[in-house]
Amino acid sequence: EIKDITDLPGVGPTTAQKLMEAGFTTLEAIAAATPQEISQATGIPILTAQKIVDAAREALNIDFKTAYDLKLESMNIKKITTGSRNLDELLGGGIETKTITELFGEFGSGKTQICHQLSVNVQLPEDKGGLEGKAVYIDTEGTFRWERIEQMARGVGLDPDEVMKNIYWIRAINSHHQIAIVDKLFTMVKNDNIKLVVVDSVTSHFRAEFPGRENLAMRQQLLNRHLHQLMRLADIFNVAVVITNQVMARPDVFYGDPTQAVGGHVLGHAPGVRVYLKKSRGNKRIARVVDAPHLPEGETVFAITEWGIRD
Ligand code: ADP
Ligand code: MG
Repeated sequence: EIKDITDLPGVGPTTAQKLMEAGFTTLEAIAAATPQEISQATGIPILTAQKIVDAAREALNIDFKTAYDLKLESMNIKKITTGSRNLDELLGGGIETKTITELFGEFGSGKTQICHQLSVNVQLPEDKGGLEGKAVYIDTEGTFRWERIEQMARGVGLDPDEVMKNIYWIRAINSHHQIAIVDKLFTMVKNDNIKLVVVDSVTSHFRAEFPGRENLAMRQQLLNRHLHQLMRLADIFNVAVVITNQVMARPDVFYGDPTQAVGGHVLGHAPGVRVYLKKSRGNKRIARVVDAPHLPEGETVFAITEWGIRD
């Protein structure tokens, strides 16, 4: 059985080393690459690279499926409650597994609060809107607060210390580290009952390291690779992936669509659910689902309270 790249035919220690150094650290990364790319990056002959790519794709079962297979797979999709009935309803029942959900909006719009709440709620029993699973929290901005988890755990009647033990937090120090962490998650999620992966925020390191228009292509290419990793993770292990993206509303387009935010969208036309968040009066926030053909159009209001996300 092929479990990692060293199990691939024709990949000895030297080739494995070359592949790792070029960033092809997982079967997923290799399956998503072209033989040309691998050959160029590692010096491996193209025919060998072709064999390696084929074997990785076969190992991951990337092949034709029937529509009925797809139906069966979709029946495995589970949902995590946000804590707000309104918001759950807008999302068709909650945050879905096997999917990336992008929360985007201005500073203070509630992205991080929702990520904290989901890290707690994923631990609830299924009849209370959870998956009895653990969470991984990749923190790029240093805004994770265990104190907030404690409050929210009390708010749903769970033991705060137990809840905190089931949230694996890591600070990603740069975009390279962020990508390496997700590579590692393929092993970690396989071996543990993790049902939610949060990346808060997915874009900040990429924006800081590749600023301006001249770096846009490079930035987008790296981000796309990262998103691809996250999509595979969500799909293979049936986990929910939630990413945040801080954007500025466009003051210049007063009558325009505020969701056409400065800084661009990460998900773009990639599959997933995109939720635009906006501040309203006091602790109220407005949520709108953008570009989701399977969800009805519209917006809803929720609140950020001491106990967490509520109606
Ligand atoms: P962002 O979209 O920038 O990630 P946050 O999710 O951090 O925004 O939301 C910050 C807001 O959450 C604060 O402005 C505050 O209104 C609210 N908030 C944070 N902590 C608490 C708390 N303990 N009780 C009530 N509201 C809180
Ligand atoms: Mg935040």
